[in-house]
Amino acid sequence: MELQINDTFVKELPADSQTENTRRQVTEACYSFVQPIKTAAPKLVHYSKEVTDLLGITEEEAKSEEFLNVFTGNQIIPNSTPYAMCYGGHQFGHWAGQLGDGRAINLAEVENKGKRWAVQIKGAGATPYSRTADGLAVLRSSIREYLCSEAMYHLGVPTTRALSLAITGDEVMRDMLYDGNPEYEKGAIVCRVSPSFLRFGSYEIFASRQDHKSLKTLVDYTIKHFYPELTQDKAGYIAFFRAVSIKTLDMIIHWQRVGFVHGVMNTDNMSILGLTIDYGPYGWLEGYDKRWTPNTTDAEHKRYQYGKQSNKALWNLLKLANALYPLIEEAEPLEEILNEYKTMYAGKYQGMMNAKIGLELDDDKDLKLIQDLEDNLRRTETDMTIFFRCLSNVNKDMVVPEKDDVSFLDAVKEAFYQPEEVKGETLFFWKEWFKLYLLRLQKETTTDSERKLKMDKVNPKYVLRNYMSQLAIDASDKGDYSVVDELFTILKKPYNEQPEAEKWFAKRPEWARTKVGCSMLSCSS
Ligand code: AMP
Ligand code: MG
Repeated sequence: MELQINDTFVKELPADSQTENTRRQVTEACYSFVQPIKTAAPKLVHYSKEVTDLLGITEEEAKSEEFLNVFTGNQIIPNSTPYAMCYGGHQFGHWAGQLGDGRAINLAEVENKGKRWAVQIKGAGATPYSRTADGLAVLRSSIREYLCSEAMYHLGVPTTRALSLAITGDEVMRDMLYDGNPEYEKGAIVCRVSPSFLRFGSYEIFASRQDHKSLKTLVDYTIKHFYPELTQDKAGYIAFFRAVSIKTLDMIIHWQRVGFVHGVMNTDNMSILGLTIDYGPYGWLEGYDKRWTPNTTDAEHKRYQYGKQSNKALWNLLKLANALYPLIEEAEPLEEILNEYKTMYAGKYQGMMNAKIGLELDDDKDLKLIQDLEDNLRRTETDMTIFFRCLSNVNKDMVVPEKDDVSFLDAVKEAFYQPEEVKGETLFFWKEWFKLYLLRLQKETTTDSERKLKMDKVNPKYVLRNYMSQLAIDASDKGDYSVVDELFTILKKPYNEQPEAEKWFAKRPEWARTKVGCSMLSCSS
């Protein structure tokens, strides 16, 4: 395997002068050199063909011993210098100081076909940033990160990618429910790939230490490599903040579109490239409950609930603005950008929802149409993915009956968890909504079949429902990786009809409603 290495991060940015792997505060440095630990008996569980292609790795190479050893950290890529990145972050609204790659180790930047990719393994041992933790990862959370990274990519959501998933052969102790009952679990390593793993917290750490020199070096590096159209001066820094703000907003709109809830939108988990990063206790809306979050740590305040993701991203952008302020020394342009975000969000959200229900023309009544729809989706538990997918089967010449007849809901009835609840007021509101919707569809120039084609490109048929990951995890715990492979394959074409995969186009089964890992997840990973 011959990877073309071009390590810009370690070449152009300041390194930690200490090279011992001891836990400590690291100052005036963007990273520390560190070696992954050797794993006992690594075994490849899965790899992503699409990502090997990005890196220029052939199929034969991906199946080699060398691939397994390199991407579990047992063998260092020649001419590379692995490192852990230093960053800080605001966690659940509070400044948490230095965080950093506590269990991620960057192997190298690999160049292929004119693109450069940072390649990082997660779970290969402690680093100076591990604080009190072990630097390891378990199989269940690694499966979740591996599958979701690639599923999100194929859904068209900006994300970091996943190259491979391997078990290490080592055991890792975890108290999964934080209830004082730790158990040994299988250790695992995911290899992640992204143009960069820089986060808002990478900039915040320098600002918090008033290290404006390192801050400027890092911002200039970021602009040079990832925002090359911008200048490295005050005007450029303002434009940089605007660009990050827009990318972040676009990512959030995609999350809302597919029903994704990140779960831990702390500033250390916000990519400077607007990519979805750090798949922890994330989840997917099943019932359309805007207050839902899968994260047990956040169960009380629900800071990162589905409906507040945009708002929390804005809060995080404000923290990034504060971090960049020393280079700009003017609050007004930054405030303006934050205000623009709010206006843009309203417009983009409306546009996204209009696309989900197949509307292309502008109509000032659409705002109410969407609000009424969202209200209806909450009147009785309604599966988000199934509802929007099925809505494309409605014909615009359908007639809503006046009597207590529910047949007008035939196209979408699969989405109701308790169809018997669709009566009385709930039925009345659905009738009212469909009447308006059908009138609105009449104004569109597209035919039913044209509209269906377009709607089916924004409303996925298959998403990685929480219980699906759990089934893959349960099988994998027993050494059966076939479900990982099955889900990986289906989720490559989430917008396509896949008759052989119809069983995954279904509401969450009742057993999954309360099962750990299916409805709620802890941060333990
Ligand atoms: P997260 O909320 O999972 O993104 O993690 C927050 C911080 O904790 C990051 O700095 C991680 O590197 C660190 N961290 C999480 N789990 C571990 C672990 N098992 N060992 C070391 N550091 C960890
Ligand atoms: Mg993180």
